[in-house]
Amino acid sequence: MADLRTQLEGNLKHVKDRIAAACQQVGRSASEVTLVAVTKYAQLDWIQGLIDLGMADLAENRPQQLVERQARWPQVRWHLIGQLQRNKAKSVLGPASLIHSVDSLRLAQRLSALAESPQRVLCEVNVSGEASKAGFTPTELQQAWDELVALPNIAIEGLMTMAPLSENPEDARPVFAGLRQLRDQLQLRCPQGVSLSHLSMGMSGDYEVAIQEGATLVRVGSRLFERL
Ligand SMILES: *Cc1c(COP(=O)(O)O)cnc(C)c1O
Repeated sequence: MADLRTQLEGNLKHVKDRIAAACQQVGRSASEVTLVAVTKYAQLDWIQGLIDLGMADLAENRPQQLVERQARWPQVRWHLIGQLQRNKAKSVLGPASLIHSVDSLRLAQRLSALAESPQRVLCEVNVSGEASKAGFTPTELQQAWDELVALPNIAIEGLMTMAPLSENPEDARPVFAGLRQLRDQLQLRCPQGVSLSHLSMGMSGDYEVAIQEGATLVRVGSRLFERL
């Protein structure tokens, strides 16, 4: 479908241009930021369209849908960004290239016990402190940290957060800056060879602010599929 392709291409170009501009504003290289397309509401032909346009990092929030879509498109790096129950942990080991949503020590322990090779993960942090949000509080993560980094077969590569919903992207800035500062503190407590290189933050409404505050992975869904 030519219309679908044209629309997707335009949306993708819009987002990539703004990523590049945000990087330039703060003197970062655009190569430091990976656009992760969130496909949780996307139809199959939209996903195929994105892949045809060169997208290699896609994200799902439901483990079951990630597993199904990974089987269909195994060439893609699939990111799990939604809540993972411990009884579903086994199903995503292998299919998930990176799990952004490790939100408890118990989940990390389960993944560690089941994984046969190092599973790449990020710890999800509830920086804003909203009751409705998943994730470690910053204090909980600091308390669990020594145990987390000692777990075998878990490679912690950084942190993830979601900012509160708001019309104004500037409202997200303190949350993103807080995640970066927490990462910097925790990096000092990592064993040699462990690098918390990733900050997964920023969605359709606030990815530019997230990049200005150091995001390396931006998770963009609705903006890519507008008008489809
Ligand atoms: C849905 C979702 C996104 C993408 O949100 P958009 O506003 O559609 O870009 C990002 N991160 C998580 C964890 C999500 O669940």
